[in-house]
Amino acid sequence: MPKILIVEDEPQMRLGLKDNLEFEGYEADFAEDGAIGLQKILENQYDLIILDIMLPKMSGFDVCKKAREKGIATPVIMLTAKGEEIDKVLGLELGADDYITKPFSLRELLARIKAVLRRVEERGGRGGGERVKIGGLEVDFSTYDAFLGGQPEPMSHKEFEILKYLWQHQGQTVSRDDLLNQVWGYEEYPTTRTVDNFILKLRKRIEQDPAHPRHILTVHGIGYKLVT
Ligand code: CA
Repeated sequence: MPKILIVEDEPQMRLGLKDNLEFEGYEADFAEDGAIGLQKILENQYDLIILDIMLPKMSGFDVCKKAREKGIATPVIMLTAKGEEIDKVLGLELGADDYITKPFSLRELLARIKAVLRRVEERGGRGGGERVKIGGLEVDFSTYDAFLGGQPEPMSHKEFEILKYLWQHQGQTVSRDDLLNQVWGYEEYPTTRTVDNFILKLRKRIEQDPAHPRHILTVHGIGYKLVT
């Protein structure tokens, strides 16, 4: 279920969007000002962000800019007010994927959301029997095969799962807690130390110099980021 964050200060608009997105089968989360919005973007994994421009505490522009600076690649649809022509352009230059002008019909917004998610899906490839190259390692996430220097490289299921999650969110910071929830689930109780140990194992396979990683980067105090 795609997870969408709505950053919007008008309560009616926010709740209306939330209800409708949930009705359409999306998981919706919301933030009522720019500061909370940015915090949520940095702490969670969303598939899409709907970002109003005029927000208390921090404008939608600044939220988008700061998120991109932190390496968050999540698609953003900006909500602009009528007449904000320059703002539209600015929004796209700041790394927004699309914009929609208020007042808009719900049908129009839903169409934009679907289009953006589809575009991202196509761009990302997401497995599908293809081998992807991450550092020195070649991986096929659909068959759980890994190759190092052309030779099969035995890897544990958990290693595959961790690498796959990082790869699906490449360029973004993934927290240790996210990895714990995504890879181990809620039934098991490993510690964040376990995550670190798996990362060390993966680095030995991927990195030319595991002591100075260039692909699985440490984001201090938060987690990791994959750069291919
Ligand atoms: Ca607003």
